[in-house]
Parts: sequence; structure tokens; C-alpha cells
Amino acid sequence: MGLKINRELCTGCESCVPACLFGLLEVVDNVVRAKEGCTLCGACIEVCPSRVFSIEEAASAEQADASYDGVWVFAEQHHGQIKSVTYEILSKARELADTLKTDVGVVCIGDKINDIASLSSHGADKVYLFESPRLADFREDAYASILADLIGRYRPEIVIAGATPMGRSFLPQVAARLKTGLTADCTCLDIEAGKRLLRQTRPTFGGNIMATIICPERRPQMTTVRPRVFKKGKIYPGHHSEIIKIDFSEAAVTSKTKLLEFIEDVSDKINLDEADIIISGGRGLGKAENFGLLKELADLLGAALGSSRPPVDEGWLPYSHQVGQTGKTVSPKLYIACGISGSVQHMAGMQTSDVIVAINDDPNAPIFEIATYGIIGDLFKVVPLMIEKLKNQR
Ligand code: FAD
Repeated sequence: MGLKINRELCTGCESCVPACLFGLLEVVDNVVRAKEGCTLCGACIEVCPSRVFSIEEAASAEQADASYDGVWVFAEQHHGQIKSVTYEILSKARELADTLKTDVGVVCIGDKINDIASLSSHGADKVYLFESPRLADFREDAYASILADLIGRYRPEIVIAGATPMGRSFLPQVAARLKTGLTADCTCLDIEAGKRLLRQTRPTFGGNIMATIICPERRPQMTTVRPRVFKKGKIYPGHHSEIIKIDFSEAAVTSKTKLLEFIEDVSDKINLDEADIIISGGRGLGKAENFGLLKELADLLGAALGSSRPPVDEGWLPYSHQVGQTGKTVSPKLYIACGISGSVQHMAGMQTSDVIVAINDDPNAPIFEIATYGIIGDLFKVVPLMIEKLKNQR
């Protein structure tokens, strides 16, 4: 694909020049020309009144291999415990598979993986089990070659994994081995009507626009999805999965890396991912010490403490508390945002919360547009009243 410029149509009006986000267009002697580096964003096509620009399709576009079938989920687990993100993705995979009228497969790689039955009750039709004591701890290279090999053997048309440190580290290796595309960090997945194309939507340009990406020529279509973007789906009592234990050679589980020690990240203990209630503070808190007020409210409600980015940048709280595009994506039952304006980057991480309460002294703060309940007022007056009320109820 490439940007095609029909110079004969150009009037030299220059309307395309400021439209190019990367400053790659210039008009010389009344005719436009492009420097190298075009991302094919199409902004010039939209503004040009003379239809000078078009995007040229590759002449030899391959057809996707129609023999690929099924939607696969990579089951993320740690020491045998299947992680919540697996069930979230499984719920979306079930929906996509129903649209495509195909099966859902879940791939489990590890050792002594617990609760395989829960994968059936969450909608898996097939569970591919690849277990070995040598896979008890995650090894990028071994996991990548096993998954690539299984995909080559069973040929699913879609493969989804969590956009977690694990998924992010090894799924690109799988995609590279299979010479197919991978869209990372998706926030929405659906099927293009009438085609078997996965529409993979993710924020781009700092979260200011959403890009929908397709992989029309190669299979499988691969994607990672951030935790808590999708909700765990319904339970299918009595739904049975076929368990397929994979035979393998020892060579398949060798890794170039050796695990010396596993040190748990204690800062992750705040567990924003799993919290039912989150009290978050923003720049409106003013200084680190004022987070003590939110901590008091959080303790009374059994909530976790979250934050927008400025308090983290200021060093008031560690990064593990940050909610948003470059922090955690959360979806609690109740999210209370105190002194947070509601930037697109913050909302990208919390807008799927069931109930959102916003406390802000600016009635025009964007957070009120998504809040279930908005309290216009000084948080240093509102939060102490909430604390007092809760204490009186005990
Ligand atoms: P502000 O926008 O400054 O808002 C503070 C609010 O507090 C104001 O609305 C004000 O009215 C209110 N306020 C002040 N005093 C009081 C008071 N006493 N009582 C009640 N209300 C009061 N941001 C994130 O949060 N998470 C991210 O992951 C993230 N990632 C980013 C990634 C990129 C690439 C970029 C460019 C930015 C990112 N940001 C992120 C930053 C984001 O753009 C905003 O700057 C940030 O979210 C603003 O945080 P805030 O709402 O706390 O501060």
C-alpha cells in the first residue's frame, strides 16, 4: 500500500499541508509532493478539494486462508491459578464465536493448572492442555514456540490473550513466527458484518482517537486485550469442554533462560484490578499528605486507593495506584473520583465502572459527563462529611 498523488489534479491550494500530522507534505511550484514516512492516515484525502490523493492497495493482496476456524483464548495462569483476565477474554471470545458460528478453544500452558472445569462453565468448547513441570514458571521463548506450534497444528482464525506483562512479552513472538499481524492493547473487538474479519479497536495518538485495525490477508488474527476491559460473562452450567492433552517432546519445553528467583512485586498488593470499590484522587488533592483523607474513606469502605497520573508524577503515590491509559484499567462496582477532571486518558481506565461518583468543585469538569452521581463541591468538605456519616453508621 502507498499514498498515490495525482499531480495533474493539484491546484497548489495547500489545504493538505497543515492537515498532515507529520508535516510530510509541501507544495513546490504549485504542485504538492510528499516526503518519506507517510503513515497512510488519510488526513490529506479528507481535506483535498481536488481529489489529488488516494491510497494504493498492494497489487498482490493475498486472500486469507479460509481453512482457519475457531476463536482461541490464551489462558494466563500463575502457579496453576487461572487469572481473572482469562475469563474476561473468554466471555468476549464466546460472543465472537457465536457470531462466526464456530468454537471457542482455550490454550493452557503451564503445570498442574487448577480449575480447568471453570473454563467449560465459562463457555469454552475445547481446552488444549500443555502441561510440564518445566513450564511451571513462565518462559517467553518456550511459551512462544509451544503456542505457535499449536496454532500451526489446529489453525484457529482468531487468537486473543491478555495485554498483561505475560501476554505483551510473548504474543508478538508468536505473531512474528506465524508471519501474521497482532494488535496490542485493544479495548473493543467485534466482527465486520458479512466478513470473518475481526475489528480490533484501540486508543492511539495519546488516547485522543480510536483506531480500528483489521488483518485481512493473514491468519490467525491476533490481539491482546487489557485486563478489566471486558467483564466476565455468564456461566453456562453443564456446558462441557473437550479436553485435549497435547503430546510433546522434551525439546518443545526447553528454554534458553533459567529462572534464578521469583520476587513478588509487593507494590501490586493494593490490587486495584480486583477491588470492588476504588477511591481515586487527582491533582485536586494538592499534596501527598492529603491522600490520608482518601485513605481514611477507603478503609471505612474496604476500598482500594487509586490515582490519576499527576499525583504519581509528583511522587505523592507509587505508579501501581495509577488508573488510566498508561496505568491500570479498572472496572469496580463503585469508583469515587475526587479532584479528578476526567481527561480522556484517565477515563480510558475507569469508564466501565458500574457506578461512578465524581467530587469536583468545577461544574464543567468532563468527569461529570460520565459520572452516575456528581457532587459539585470542595472535596475537603465533602469527603470528611462522608467519613463522618460512615463512622456514625457503625
Ligand atoms: P487536573 O486535570 O488538573 O484536574 C484536577 C481537578 O481537580 C480539576 O477538575 C479541579 O476542578 C479539581 N479540584 C481542584 N481542587 C479541588 C477541590 N478542593 N475539590 C474538588 N475538586 C477540586 N492521566 C491519568 O490519570 N492516567 C493515565 O494513565 C494517563 N496517561 C496519559 C498518557 C499520555 C500519553 C498522556 C499525554 C497523558 C496521560 N495522562 C494520564 C494525563 C492526563 O492527560 C491528565 O493530565 C490527567 O489525567 C489529569 O489528572 P487530574 O484530573 O488529576 O488533574
